[in-house]
Amino acid sequence: MIVMKFGGTSVESTEAIERVAGIVRDRLALHPVVVVSAMGKTTNKLLAIAADAVAGRREQALDLLNQLHEFHQRESEELGVDDIVSVHFQELAELVKGLAVMGEMTPRATDAVSAFGERLSSLIVTARLRKLGIDAVHLDARSVIVTDGRHTQAAPILAETTTRLNATIPPLAAKHAVIVMGGFIASTENGVTSTLGRGGSDYTASIVGAGMNAAEIQIWTDVDGMLTSDPTILKNVYRVKQCSFAEAAELAYFGAKVLHPATVLPAIEKNIPVRILNSRRPEVEGTLISSKAVDSTSPIRSIACKRNITLVNIVSSRMLMAHGFLRRVFEIFDRHETSVDMLATSEVSVSLTIDNTQALPAIRKEIEEFADITVEDQQAIVCMVGDNLRHTPGVLARAFAALNHVKIRMISEGASQLNLSLVVSAEELAGAVESLHGEFFAAPDPAAFA
Ligand code: ADP
Ligand code: ASP
Ligand code: MG
Repeated sequence: MIVMKFGGTSVESTEAIERVAGIVRDRLALHPVVVVSAMGKTTNKLLAIAADAVAGRREQALDLLNQLHEFHQRESEELGVDDIVSVHFQELAELVKGLAVMGEMTPRATDAVSAFGERLSSLIVTARLRKLGIDAVHLDARSVIVTDGRHTQAAPILAETTTRLNATIPPLAAKHAVIVMGGFIASTENGVTSTLGRGGSDYTASIVGAGMNAAEIQIWTDVDGMLTSDPTILKNVYRVKQCSFAEAAELAYFGAKVLHPATVLPAIEKNIPVRILNSRRPEVEGTLISSKAVDSTSPIRSIACKRNITLVNIVSSRMLMAHGFLRRVFEIFDRHETSVDMLATSEVSVSLTIDNTQALPAIRKEIEEFADITVEDQQAIVCMVGDNLRHTPGVLARAFAALNHVKIRMISEGASQLNLSLVVSAEELAGAVESLHGEFFAAPDPAAFA
């Protein structure tokens, strides 16, 4: 068995779904479980509809809802499948009207709304495969992926999920050639719809892959694989042929959107290779992510970047020679459920970065009781990742020389010695990435990059 996950752009239109059907058909012998995202930007649209409804813009919300209904209906008609979407849009319309009356959006209601994207896309793709003569069967992901109750960011309960997957998938696979399910969506133990967080369909794929001991987890997307840098920042990037689980996890965490940050965790546990592939160019080999160390003459595998970062500087001369300063600081961030990405400390100061600023006013108030705190938004993290960083001297010197035109706000080298991260202002991000890429990928090793 293999798991094949197709992202939003891979199922955005009739044409795209046709390509998916072709790709799946060519791999029927591998017994695929297909995981699909919502079509195109449907999740964003659903959230916009809900936001309009609770803000009192009821008519606007219903207008957008109609447009989304028409889009899905048109796509399913073009695919030659029956009207399987209208009944779902009726349910969604009721929900949206309810939100307009309540004027309030809870995380639980957010999940109920955003789940419609994958509920619909999985039905449409199943129907299309069947129409093309492929014996596909639909599986409602919410009946097998079980999570805790942290709506919009729910964490899977792996034991229960694995039990349900193993009770459900083998009997379906015995009768049908392909199983199709939606990514991202799940339900709590009480059966309430939940989601795994934005971009979470990748995570669904690896949860299913690990739960079923799949031979491979394939992430089909709109680029050729993991690239040497974010292609929206830099044009001339290379495909990374292979990388380790640790490198992929680090890159995903620091902004390589092509993989949801949690994706590799289940795969590592069962040592299942993950392959990133391009649904528009299925002939390209993509990127293989596995436990194997990959030799290369390059110290760096790829440069990730994370935008919308806030830099927090905390200084307390009163804490000089006193212990407990860091504990006190982190206890506050922890209590406000705000995770810290990067960190640099001295005896009396600590600089750190966060990307979720929701609780920042409250955090600030508490810290001001014992320290001075300054906050700078519009920052970005540039993160160089590579297993080879560990044993290649001089990387920092090369990076600094390349960045002599950039003001570096903070530096940190992870304990794993797998990443070297810098904070720069958002304005300087593109220039910094370009200079680093030019320095480290001027003549990429053909054994490792294409
Ligand atoms: P999907 O809808 O298939 O899940 P995403 O939009 O979530 O696709 O992820 C793919 C996108 O990730 C690419 O189009 C690309 O712009 C972006 N991306 C950012 N960093 C990288 C990187 N290092 N390698 C590849 N893609 C990246
Ligand atoms: N549709 C969801 C999102 O847009 C999940 C995903 O695409 O992975 O975040
Ligand atoms: Mg994605």
